[in-house]
Amino acid sequence: MSGKPKKMGLLTSGGDAPGMNAAIRAVVRTALNYGMKVTGIMRGYDGLLSGDIIDMHARSVSDIIHKGGTILRTARCPEMMTEAGLEKAAGICRVLSLDALVVIGGDGSFHGALELSRRGINVMGIPGTIDLDLSCTDYTIGFDTAINTAMDAINKIRDTSGSHERCSVVEVMGRHAGYIALWSSLTGGAEEVLIPENGAAHNSKERVIGQIIENRALGKKHNLIVVAEGVGGSEALAKEIEKVTGIESRATILGHLQRGGSPTALDRMHAAYMGYKAVESIQNDEVNRVIVFRNGRHESMDITEALNSDRPYDNTMYDIIKMLAR
Ligand code: ATP
Repeated sequence: MSGKPKKMGLLTSGGDAPGMNAAIRAVVRTALNYGMKVTGIMRGYDGLLSGDIIDMHARSVSDIIHKGGTILRTARCPEMMTEAGLEKAAGICRVLSLDALVVIGGDGSFHGALELSRRGINVMGIPGTIDLDLSCTDYTIGFDTAINTAMDAINKIRDTSGSHERCSVVEVMGRHAGYIALWSSLTGGAEEVLIPENGAAHNSKERVIGQIIENRALGKKHNLIVVAEGVGGSEALAKEIEKVTGIESRATILGHLQRGGSPTALDRMHAAYMGYKAVESIQNDEVNRVIVFRNGRHESMDITEALNSDRPYDNTMYDIIKMLAR
């Protein structure tokens, strides 16, 4: 960057996550504090390509810290996956004279940002996804609110499941990663959890049904099984459990309610730190990076390194869930 950065763009992309608004607020107010201008880009890369932009001021982000969703809206944008789309997006960043573009989103959104950096645009990523599925960071904004929503729903289902002595199958979000399923199972006291990481054999109906029969023999009066979206089939599983065991079984798919709601204190704290650090990093001419939370610290990491990081799956949480459920 030649000279101090003067203007930055800001967008949210991919699935929305509670705490994105708190991160927007942190980015905008920190940037203004440094004397930078902020251009808000609506609906992620889609709004960048169509030039749907707004000027952001301190008051543009008033009264949003506690709100779920994202005031900048979000979208999936297939055009960004094409060479022509990427060239056009980079060209628009240049026309807008953006010294840097801050992208709040998940893995896909960061890949879009990486492609822009390869076309000469300075980018900065902030991890915002309920799924916690970015290997580079121990935390992603939205995760804590999502697991508290899932746990709360499991608590409620447990009440009715216990009264009717049923088997309840609860499907939570997580297409490729089982973190929401694992955390909500541990904290909601589920006896079995099916996650993509454990593979088809482990997730088989036969094994789950065997487990339910075993747990009833141990004196359990009702059952609670959590299924990650990526494993799916919770309706069919409930039907099969009822058919084989005779235990009344019901499936509940929590769906999009896990994306909404007022962000928890933890999500707001990470949003504040990550938003602040993103702008500080741009100020220090440390661009083409993402903000990560590792070993209890917020720091920046090269975006290519971040996207190439690998966090091997650790089965410890699953083992604890199983032990505590007996
Ligand atoms: P979440 O997982 O929480 O939904 P995400 O950021 O991973 O968040 P995606 O839908 O995967 O969500 O990606 C968001 C957008 O990022 C896509 O719609 C697309 O515009 C852009 N994107 C994704 N992958 C790429 C890529 N390889 N190259 C360019 N752009 C990409």
